[in-house]
Amino acid sequence: MTQANYLWNPPAVNSLPVQGSDLRFAVNRIFCVGRNYHAHAIEMGRPVDKSTARPFYFTKSPSTLVESGATVPYPAGTSNYHFEMELVVAIGASGFRVNEADAQRMIYGYAAGLDMTRRDLQLVARDQGRPWDLGKDFEKSAVCTEIVPIGHLGVLSTGAIYLQVNGETKQTADLGQLIWNIPELLADLSQFYHLVPGDLIYTGTPEGVGAVKTGDRITGHIDGVGDVALSIGAAE
Ligand code: MN
Repeated sequence: MTQANYLWNPPAVNSLPVQGSDLRFAVNRIFCVGRNYHAHAIEMGRPVDKSTARPFYFTKSPSTLVESGATVPYPAGTSNYHFEMELVVAIGASGFRVNEADAQRMIYGYAAGLDMTRRDLQLVARDQGRPWDLGKDFEKSAVCTEIVPIGHLGVLSTGAIYLQVNGETKQTADLGQLIWNIPELLADLSQFYHLVPGDLIYTGTPEGVGAVKTGDRITGHIDGVGDVALSIGAAE
């Protein structure tokens, strides 16, 4: 086999630590679910009627990944930089057009994540019918803890999820409040994509999203999964 010669070094593989292992979880794609808690959908002015709606998704480039505990610069182009606390499902086995009953075999594990958002840019895009990329798919916007293997956790259906900024609680909810639960999401998303090991799915945020500024420290928790943290540095 001929070794390819590149003009420059190919980008590094994006990856996350795995709890209890020296092996790292190589990240393929990052899918994010929009409006998956009723109270958050309402606070965004777009309530969800599950009887007529289906989930919707956007993506973040794998290069946007940043490990929990980092300090990130206040991002360019925004004056309304928001946190969104989310359960992340890490895929470890391929699946296409899977049934809800088959969802568990695809789950490698879970993580606690932050879907950081340039809210001002997202809402302009949304209201003009434009893509959300400027608001969502920007550098260091996908924060994630180590991956916790599924083990005894099984398919998570309940558990506290909350977020604090500088120690003050901003978001608090339970995974049982997800509009579309994990099996429903995997069944639906796999109608559109061949899910493969390394895919991450950010499952949506509860109500209480808000802005952070330089110097703030975000901490978040999901029962049984872990704690995520992010510090906001100066603008570049
Ligand atoms: Mn989100």
